[in-house]
Amino acid sequence: MDIEKIISDVKEKFNIKYNEAQDLDSLEEVRVKFLGKNGKIKQLYGKMASIPDEQKPILGKELNKVKEEINNKLQEKKDKLAAEKKKRQLEAERIDVTLPGHKIKKGSQHPLSIVTSELEEIFIAMGFKIAVGPEVEDEYYNFKALNIPEDHPARDLQDTLYLDDLFLLRTHTSPVQVRTMENTSPPIKIIAPGRVYRADELDASHSPVFHQLEGLVVDENITFGDLKGTIQIMVEQIFGQNHSVRFRPSYFPFTEPSAEVDVSCIVCGGEGCSLCSYTGWLEIMGSGLVHPRVLKMSGINPQEYSGFAFGMGIDRITLLKYGIDDIRLLQENDRRFLQQFK
Ligand SMILES: [Zn+2]
Repeated sequence: MDIEKIISDVKEKFNIKYNEAQDLDSLEEVRVKFLGKNGKIKQLYGKMASIPDEQKPILGKELNKVKEEINNKLQEKKDKLAAEKKKRQLEAERIDVTLPGHKIKKGSQHPLSIVTSELEEIFIAMGFKIAVGPEVEDEYYNFKALNIPEDHPARDLQDTLYLDDLFLLRTHTSPVQVRTMENTSPPIKIIAPGRVYRADELDASHSPVFHQLEGLVVDENITFGDLKGTIQIMVEQIFGQNHSVRFRPSYFPFTEPSAEVDVSCIVCGGEGCSLCSYTGWLEIMGSGLVHPRVLKMSGINPQEYSGFAFGMGIDRITLLKYGIDDIRLLQENDRRFLQQFK
């Protein structure tokens, strides 16, 4: 038996397969083919029984050598292929930290919030402080303390959302005036923005929930002139310099004298259009000097102090400022509408 030839044959066959194997799977196939249970080396060991005794140790020695050689070569290539595979994987999964990140979409402020903040800033600049009060009120704070008599139509179930016999949802922000006067000594200079409720059906110009901003100033020698000056500044700041303000005599139970405040129409500038019903004026708030009886009920001496108060609908100001013709748009949260207020 030509041991040398057998060994060089098997080496040659192995080298061909070994060089062909270019990935870990095919390399494993080569290992099974040569070193496996039924592999070529095993088969050659099997020939041991049929060869002359003097050749047996030689064949055994050569086979052990070739087995070790194959094993080493396989291991070496296996390590190399595994390293390459790992490298390719890392390459594919590499994160480019210089790429721009995903942009977070910016939201926009609700138009009511924009106008509320603007109004707050205007009044804060004039020395007002912000006051808040509960949305659930009782009849005393919502009506009686504001000089609104028992038989006043505002107290009607048709207009007011009563929660039970005692409590109701405030119909205006005026109760905050009362609560402030009860707890603070003059000088008082506050605004009270907040949500108010009426038993109204929702339509283009009415809503059961809307927003008011109340103002109250109480000090010595406060006159109607102080009220006019304050409102004039507010109108100029919120609508622009070129708007006139007019005070029209009116009646409210909690002020005396009382006046509605009109601003020259923001669409036609006073010439007359459909928005202002061809009057040239838009009503924006109610105002007046605080009724002495209201001061007295809240523990302030009307002989010593006087004050003015005003109340406006923030929703209405928002509709006018932006030329929106339907109050429902302020509540529907339609993003196509809201996105316009960036
Ligand atoms: Zn007009």
